[in-house]
Amino acid sequence: MKKSFLLSFVLMLSLAAALPGQETPVAPYPDNLERLQGDNGFSRGFGDTNHSFSFDWFDSHAHLAWSHYPNLLKGGQIQEVIDRWLGYTGVYHSGRLILLDPYLETMEWAKNDPRVYVFWWLVWEQANQLPEIKRRVEAGLIQGLKLHTGDFRRKENPDYHVMGSEAWHKVYRYCEEADLPVLIHVNEHWGDQAYTYGRGAKKFWARAGYTNQELLDYCLSELVAKHPKVKWILAHMNFQGTETLSALFERYPNLYVDTSIGMFLREYDHLTAAEIEPYRKFCIRWADRIMFGTDVFAYHPLESSYPGSLHNWWLPHYIFISRLGLPQETLDKVTHGTCEAVLGKYLKKMPAEE
Ligand SMILES: [Zn+2]
Repeated sequence: MKKSFLLSFVLMLSLAAALPGQETPVAPYPDNLERLQGDNGFSRGFGDTNHSFSFDWFDSHAHLAWSHYPNLLKGGQIQEVIDRWLGYTGVYHSGRLILLDPYLETMEWAKNDPRVYVFWWLVWEQANQLPEIKRRVEAGLIQGLKLHTGDFRRKENPDYHVMGSEAWHKVYRYCEEADLPVLIHVNEHWGDQAYTYGRGAKKFWARAGYTNQELLDYCLSELVAKHPKVKWILAHMNFQGTETLSALFERYPNLYVDTSIGMFLREYDHLTAAEIEPYRKFCIRWADRIMFGTDVFAYHPLESSYPGSLHNWWLPHYIFISRLGLPQETLDKVTHGTCEAVLGKYLKKMPAEE
């Protein structure tokens, strides 16, 4: 199946190359092959501008509205926020998401909504929560864990070695046994990034005594390499570039990335063909390790001070992937298939499948 797809893909590419006016990084979808060859050539232009398409985008990195934090939302309010949010993103065929969230209230609510998953956002003092992690996994309240090295920034002594403490290794061992994925944010802003309103943390780096690279290396050698059965998802790490990430994927077969922050393009911006090419190759080669994710805050329009969240944040992640003109199989994996595979036995059944 895969082989024949590849063969027809190569055939399509050579056909496309032979036709004038088709200098585009988008390979024709297999159905279009019939048009290229049949109907005495009359219909060959029909659908040429239709890119490959995925019906089921799955946002693997989302948060509840900012308003969740000062005022803990109750079940009915969470329902309202999420219904509204998925109403917006449903326009772009995105109907499922993973919330990274610390609150039991969210988990108890999400349990009954097959569109929503929760990765428990723990802080580094919570390694002693292992029995409660087990309970929540078994009760269907959570489908993964989320860890964040930004915690160290808020401490007087920003040492990061707690990540490799025996208590945390016990948690990681449980994740291996339970096939529970872990998303980890292991990078802190260094400088300001005007394009995404990023704020720098120069003051932190001036006193930290270590670098982003050391933090990542420790995570890879102490967590990822020592727990090879855990699926580790690096949040926001695409900025490193396709070559660096490819090398990491080669070295660690249990490593994944989400597309948040690093793969971002505003709606009236463009990528040149030369910019598209390495990303396109990267996505095709590593489709099984890349998960569409946006780091969006699903918001309640009445309360939020971020009314542009959909257009200024969520959509640019969608646009970046869309502009790459990926083959259907790759697009299906990047937009949802890889996320489904990472969730594995924790994947919820949608009502239509029951
Ligand atoms: Zn996030």
